[in-house]
Amino acid sequence: MQGKKILITGGTGQVARPVAEALAPDNEVWCLGRFHDPTARKALWELGAQTVVWDMATDELGDLPRDFTHVLHSAVHRGDGRDFEDTARINAVGTARLMTHCSAAESFLYVSSGVVYDRADHTHRYRVGDPLGGAAPWLPTYPVAKLSAEGVVRGLAEALALPAVIARLNIAYGPYGHGGLPVILFNQMRGGQPCAVPRHGQNYCNLLHTDDLVRQVPLLWDVARVPARVVNWGGDEEVGITDLLQYMSELTGVPVELDRGDHSRETAIFDHDARRDLVGRCTIGWRTGVARTLAELFEEYRDRIEDHLERRRAEPE
Ligand code: NDP
Repeated sequence: MQGKKILITGGTGQVARPVAEALAPDNEVWCLGRFHDPTARKALWELGAQTVVWDMATDELGDLPRDFTHVLHSAVHRGDGRDFEDTARINAVGTARLMTHCSAAESFLYVSSGVVYDRADHTHRYRVGDPLGGAAPWLPTYPVAKLSAEGVVRGLAEALALPAVIARLNIAYGPYGHGGLPVILFNQMRGGQPCAVPRHGQNYCNLLHTDDLVRQVPLLWDVARVPARVVNWGGDEEVGITDLLQYMSELTGVPVELDRGDHSRETAIFDHDARRDLVGRCTIGWRTGVARTLAELFEEYRDRIEDHLERRRAEPE
């Protein structure tokens, strides 16, 4: 993608920062956020991205240019688990301000989440059209944040004739920000904390490496439409969380203690037919992606991980 004028929210976050960094050299990229982390702001600025302080809870968009061609709205106020009114308002109003400000854009991509589904069945491959209204016991306000903003995107896409895509992300991971669920779990392992898994079986998800995610953002922009298109967004493979924990332990030598007390964070798997038809398959297998991510983020395990990968490459298929 080249020569476009791109507005990104959540540009300091795990999902949108690598997108901003990848697009900045060949496009005019503007990132909005509170920039509590000055290092992320500096890194974006050094790559040529403009950074503008904007708190979507309070701020209008004022003097910001309006002639953006593409918008990636990735910022989220997840809430503290109790502030349902604030969470609904902040995400809805922030989204509405962005869409009205950039109503002439060619494409608006909203990063939603699989948390919106009513994920009652761990074996079901959730598809767009399945029942909504998922609960998130670990952060009850989070699904409210995503569903409120989805409603605004649907409404304003049609009211403003602004082509939009709502991409329901599964689990993104990679060497950015908090690193995603694999890194969060690995940090628990390193801290000697047990990792919660279900009493029976295991939870599954579709891990999406940030390199695939970055590659797919322009492809998703290309399929924006009115009414807003809703699409599931995750990796092609179905990854068991317990398998993931054991693989990270094997890679690094850090022991994993499984807590089968049923306090595990629910994850879900998606039906990906629509996404594959629209933007194609992913390119990074989860084992390679997780190994690369841990090697990049944790220098102390790098040699061991490289040895492990070398041995795997040498093994017959
Ligand atoms: P992070 O927690 O890493 O980043 C959140 C981002 O939101 C930050 O860049 C932050 O910027 C911005 N933000 C938060 N509050 C405000 C505010 N009041 N005003 C302006 N910006 C704000 O999130 P991720 O990158 O992990 O997630 C990005 C999107 O993807 C979210 O919408 C999330 O719901 C969705 N998602 C992510 C998944 C994942 O696996 N990571 C899975 C499913 C969905 P700053 O602090 O600089 O203001």
